[in-house]
Amino acid sequence: MNKKDPAGYYALLGVPETATATEIKSAFRQNAKALHPDRNPSPDAVRQFQHLNEAYQVLSNPDTRARYDTLYAQIPQSETASSHQVAPEPIVCSCCKKVTAQPRYIIFFQVTSFIVLTIRTPIQGIFCPKCAESKAIQSTITTWLLGWWGLPWGLIYSVSTIFQNLFGGSKPNEVNARLLIYQAWVFATQNKFELARGVAADAEDFARKIKKEDKRKVLNLVEELLSALDTKTPIKRLKNVWSIPNRAFYVQGSILIAVATLFVSSVAYVPTETNHTSPSVSPTHPDTSSPSPPKPEYVRPITADNGVPFPSTSSYIDGYPIQSTDGYSKVIVDNSQNDSDVFVKLFTLDTNRPAPVRVFFIRAGEKFTIENIKAGNYDVRYRDLDSGFLARTDPFDLREVEILERIEFSEVTLTLYKVYGGNMQTHSISENEF
Ligand SMILES: [Zn+2]
Repeated sequence: MNKKDPAGYYALLGVPETATATEIKSAFRQNAKALHPDRNPSPDAVRQFQHLNEAYQVLSNPDTRARYDTLYAQIPQSETASSHQVAPEPIVCSCCKKVTAQPRYIIFFQVTSFIVLTIRTPIQGIFCPKCAESKAIQSTITTWLLGWWGLPWGLIYSVSTIFQNLFGGSKPNEVNARLLIYQAWVFATQNKFELARGVAADAEDFARKIKKEDKRKVLNLVEELLSALDTKTPIKRLKNVWSIPNRAFYVQGSILIAVATLFVSSVAYVPTETNHTSPSVSPTHPDTSSPSPPKPEYVRPITADNGVPFPSTSSYIDGYPIQSTDGYSKVIVDNSQNDSDVFVKLFTLDTNRPAPVRVFFIRAGEKFTIENIKAGNYDVRYRDLDSGFLARTDPFDLREVEILERIEFSEVTLTLYKVYGGNMQTHSISENEF
């Protein structure tokens, strides 16, 4: 009987002791079909089928498999290494088969998902530090690539698995304590006492972390071994090759940071997107005056540009010259459609630079008539005093024609509308143009 398969479970399933969880599962399915009592004529059918089930029960659970895998690592009862005994074999890495002073039994997981199906597969065995690193990285990369795509467990299992692998996987305390006690004993039989004591000290660390009632039993084993090996000198602890951060930690950590950065930047991008769209969505307000564009906190002035207070009625503003008066034309500026006062200037466009020739104030809801304007090309520029918004009308011509000793002249009515979104096209102008 294979020492590493004491109950013959692996043999029964027909797989090696290093078989993966997937291989064990499919071997069980095949054998279960063949050995099922319904199909198996053997008088032993029921017992065989039960044995198969028992094997699968133990090997399909990562914790019980870990214990089973390390059952062989026991100091024989007939201890005191008598010369008749065959030299015990040290524990080797289940991957590379090399002897290591610090083997560990480790369970990593990898997650694979497909829509609603998520499978969390253990990757377990006795590993040397090098093989453990590559197993950790391999499991983590598989999880990153294939773990997420299942709802809801894909996400949950992936996150926990990635962090567990990052910190070195799960190392069952009792299994590792027993494993190291055995390894220490093997080194002792080889007269490597210093090494044996160092390994035994590691075993003690694991034994102290055991939570079950077996703790005392395992601790006793360690203490016995340590006292047998006692040389009245302090133990030289082994260099901790398992300490974190190690290379695997950095590799997995880098992947984690890269993915997290991608995620954060994609999340940060979303609010910018909504900021862009929200202004065009929100102005469902029917009041056309309200869509407040970015006006740097406009405060309604009390005075006109020249410092003269706005009059209380619609009229010319004191202090501004009344020009272009030697004409006959008339312009009626209609602010009756508006609910805000306006500060208005009639500009002549016939000079090199447009210049105001009449400056006046019209109250909300009123009209104002400018008379005796000289013929020429003009426009009207105005400030909505409530919002501060500046606009101008289209240019217009005022004409005077002398017909039979009578002078025909222009009479123009300009209706000012609310400057924002009104039904008349307004031309927004800058402060300099007013
Ligand atoms: Zn190895």
